[in-house]
Amino acid sequence: MKAEIVIIGGGPAGLMAAYAAGLEGCKVLLVDKGDKLGRKLAISGGGRCNVTNAGPIDLIIRNIPGNGKFLYSSLAQFSNQNIIQFFESLGIPLKEEDRGRMFPVSDKAKDVVQALLDKIAELGVTIKTNAPVKQIVYDDQRITGVQLATGETIETNCVIVAVGGKSVPYTGSTGDGYRWAEKAGHTITDLFPTEVPITSSEPFIRDKTLQGLSLRDVRLAVMDPKRNRQVIEHDGDLIFTHFGISGPIALRCSQFVVKTLKKGHKAALMTIDLFPTKTKEAVIADIKQRAEQEAKRAIKNVLRGYLPERLIPLLLTKANLDEDTTSAHLPRVPLDNLAELIKRFPLEVDGTLSIEEAFVTGGGISLKEVDPKTMQSRLMPGLFFCGEVLDIHGYTGGFNITAAFTTGYSAGRSSAAHCQSI
Ligand SMILES: Cc1cc2nc3c(=O)[nH]c(=O)nc-3n(C[C@H](O)[C@H](O)[C@H](O)COP(=O)(O)OP(=O)(O)OC[C@H]3O[C@@H](n4cnc5c(N)ncnc54)[C@H](O)[C@@H]3O)c2cc1C
Repeated sequence: MKAEIVIIGGGPAGLMAAYAAGLEGCKVLLVDKGDKLGRKLAISGGGRCNVTNAGPIDLIIRNIPGNGKFLYSSLAQFSNQNIIQFFESLGIPLKEEDRGRMFPVSDKAKDVVQALLDKIAELGVTIKTNAPVKQIVYDDQRITGVQLATGETIETNCVIVAVGGKSVPYTGSTGDGYRWAEKAGHTITDLFPTEVPITSSEPFIRDKTLQGLSLRDVRLAVMDPKRNRQVIEHDGDLIFTHFGISGPIALRCSQFVVKTLKKGHKAALMTIDLFPTKTKEAVIADIKQRAEQEAKRAIKNVLRGYLPERLIPLLLTKANLDEDTTSAHLPRVPLDNLAELIKRFPLEVDGTLSIEEAFVTGGGISLKEVDPKTMQSRLMPGLFFCGEVLDIHGYTGGFNITAAFTTGYSAGRSSAAHCQSI
């Protein structure tokens, strides 16, 4: 078998690369190890497919803390707005939800995947599923083919690697691309889990006191252990689990926990601000006001309706306040402690779930060795990379998928130009 361009991987990056290369009239073959394409895309955004984010380009870049700036060139060729127009033109109307997240109006991921598949079929792209690739065959600084696990070799001089990272391997992404890139001389930066739940050995986590408790509209911060300064903070929702914390802001903070622990620290300190829009003084005033209204009630009851009920005993114990103290006798120092805990509840964390359990893989093919305009390897002509296999990682919310689509588009278009020039 022969193809002008072989695309390995049919996730968002590979499918978009197939579209862009197909548009240029190249003979494109897309191979994937699975029986279905776009499996991870289909489970993104809670199974509704978070196709992109509607925010301005700078916001997109800011939400890709793992080397987002590398994407300026590809986003100039195919931006998030182009992604939106693209799907609308395929008959998939999109809707915007909170924080700019874009979903199909139908809320059905399979509509998005099917529209992409129909489009690339219309462009004449050949698709081969159940075809795991074993290796890319190089011969003296050029590509000569792609060898499948069956032993079959597809002859080609141009390959787009779009095999994703190492996370959620049942979707097909098992980190195969790193090996092929290394064989071509590429550096793989340290791989680590990102957008991943965080683990903690705090007694109240271990004894499951808070398991299942959701906190809404709070602020979660990661502290620098040495300088006691804040590394990052995110506002939103989190949930306590039997091993630590999860939920949108825990996922967003997770990569900063990983980076802190990588510096050799055994644990990292996180803080939760239960009232990010209030000062500590305002919290004290709130509690005093409630106490004055109900002078004979125990503090634990006064705080009901003000704080999440399951947190109250823990907060009172940590603040050295007897939960049966009546409001009329609220001591000043413990009240100050309580307000401090409400504003900066400390949570010592010691790790995250594994890279396989993470939503996204951090690290990957070093960007120093990839041309940001074309996604072509600087080391091996005819070799292109796109999507999560690269050292790019963003927050969930459509940012990784945008990175996959935009780099896929650039790789597809420039691989076509490359083939036409040889
Ligand atoms: C549960 C979940 C929810 C997510 N939600 C969001 C979200 O809301 N917003 C967001 O931006 N991102 C989200 N992500 C991340 C996002 O889905 C990925 O970043 C994105 O899918 C990466 O695209 P990709 O094309 O690079 O790789 P993938 O989607 O991983 O696709 C890689 C493809 O390559 C194929 N492949 C791998 N190895 C081989 C081989 N040897 N031979 C042949 N084929 C191979 C695989 O079968 C697979 O089809 C989520 C991820 C998960 C797991």
